Amino acid sequence: MNASSANDPQVQVLLDAARTVQRRAYAPYSHFHVGAAIRATSGAVYASCNVENAAYPQGVCAEGGALSMMISAGDQRVAEVVVIGEGELLCTPCGGCRQKLREFADLDVKVHVAGPEGIRRTFTLDELLPASFGPEHLFGDHGGAADDEGDGLDADGG
Ligand SMILES: [Zn+2]
Repeated sequence: MNASSANDPQVQVLLDAARTVQRRAYAPYSHFHVGAAIRATSGAVYASCNVENAAYPQGVCAEGGALSMMISAGDQRVAEVVVIGEGELLCTPCGGCRQKLREFADLDVKVHVAGPEGIRRTFTLDELLPASFGPEHLFGDHGGAADDEGDGLDADGG
């Protein structure tokens, strides 16, 4: 599974983007540099790093930053994600970011977790956040604000 991800050119693009922004991480407190890259369903790629703050809870995760970029650019749905971190352990998205991804990603969206050497493991969002609560719980099966179909809500439709 990892080998196929590593050979997928679209995953490689995300990995490169995540690596680039990881180098720019503002992490003077944790010294843990993270990069996240999201490919939206439009094909556009959004990448962000973690941005810490002296008032610790005000810090922003890489995934949250990338999602904000995606929404700000007019995209609404996540197609694929790469998160890259440091160290020996898998740098999976934190609980909060799993829920943030859940808002804009289908449960079968792949989240590739990488380290310095490349993709280490691939999860679906459902594996990262099983039995999750999402927009359909509030809007019903027909979607609402985060309608999966996308035909009523084009990326540049506002
Ligand atoms: Zn997070």
